[in-house]
Amino acid sequence: MNYKRYFRDYPDQNGFFGPYGGMELPADLEKACKEIDQAYRSICQSSRFISELRRIRKEFQGRPTPVYHCNRLSEKLGNCHIYLKREDLNHSGAHKLNHCMGEALLASYMGKEKLIAETGAGQHGVALATAAAYFGLKCEIHMGEVDIAKQAPNVARMKVLGAEIVPVSHGLKTLKEAVDSAFASYAKQYKTAIYCIGSTLGPHPFPMMVRDFQYCIGEESRQQFLEMTGHLPDAVCACVGGGSNSTGSFAAYLADPVDLIGVEPLGHGPAFGQHAASLTYGEPGSMHGFKSYMLKDDHGEPAPVYSIASGLDYPSVGPEHAFWKDLGRVQYETIGDEEAVDAFFKLSRYEGIIPALESSHAVAYAMKWAKQHPYGSILATCSGRGDKDLDYVIENYGFGEDHQF
Ligand SMILES: *Cc1c(COP(=O)(O)O)cnc(C)c1O
Repeated sequence: MNYKRYFRDYPDQNGFFGPYGGMELPADLEKACKEIDQAYRSICQSSRFISELRRIRKEFQGRPTPVYHCNRLSEKLGNCHIYLKREDLNHSGAHKLNHCMGEALLASYMGKEKLIAETGAGQHGVALATAAAYFGLKCEIHMGEVDIAKQAPNVARMKVLGAEIVPVSHGLKTLKEAVDSAFASYAKQYKTAIYCIGSTLGPHPFPMMVRDFQYCIGEESRQQFLEMTGHLPDAVCACVGGGSNSTGSFAAYLADPVDLIGVEPLGHGPAFGQHAASLTYGEPGSMHGFKSYMLKDDHGEPAPVYSIASGLDYPSVGPEHAFWKDLGRVQYETIGDEEAVDAFFKLSRYEGIIPALESSHAVAYAMKWAKQHPYGSILATCSGRGDKDLDYVIENYGFGEDHQF
């Protein structure tokens, strides 16, 4: 594989990364996605679009986010260097705004009036409602009734930002039903609305678009790390749910001699239904309009999944990760709930940074790696801040007295 020309070749015209990806949709939605693909490929190359997105990233989002050397944590672990890419400092507290602002800017260039999406824990809904408010677009967020009850603070944030919440009351009333409901609504309104996916998932062109909009994470960190240290990190790691913050963290390093490690959620352990490690334990399959690795039950349907981090529990993964796994370019490891919680407390206590439980998986892996690589340097992406998780963590684990060196 020639990684220097990788971005010219992947995805191909039909949205494939090797055997993964594609666009498996009913005819009306296929037509709508092809329209987005065409618009994206022409508009997003224009210097006007690029310079406007750059200005938004700087003035509204507060980019570039810093790279930070975790001095105290590294010292506690030995002669190693852990660095963080601080996406928790991106406006609205996580990396998701990177692709939401890009998708909303594209929508406004296409003359669309409304953004449509689903949300599970509410993180994507909040980021999209933020983007809609910025551009003066309408925003329609589909959310299962069970999730609405559980995620009251995020529901309130979306409403304050002006989004309309569509409660979904069929089936299990969670994310999967919300996806179906959002797709059905989009199929009816695609002339005036655009669907905005929450990760590097779904049919073409979404995995490509979201990757490109998240590319800024690694593009910035590579330059920042070089300026800080004079060399590149030995390894870069990031947590993998659908795969957006990790794809953005890795893409700029593909052609470099840097180990890339995607960290999947092991939840309670490797037993069926207890984790969401789609690449580690899954097999090739199709769902939600694309082909990738997937966790399946006995009937070949999406398996039940679990992680303490609600942003990581999805039974499939972005198709580009499936491709990178088969190529051997990215290595995939797992971190369970207990290790993630330990990292949550340690980063808080020793560095003054409270990470999201999703991001805690990447931090936990970086700590493990650091112990095994004396004098090495690892850059972990801190995808978001942990305020949203505090109540849950305190209720179940106290204030972390047991998690000190
Ligand atoms: C949604 C979310 C994730 C997981 O999504 P990816 O697409 O895999 O990046 C990770 N961290 C935070 C803070 C999130 O909100």
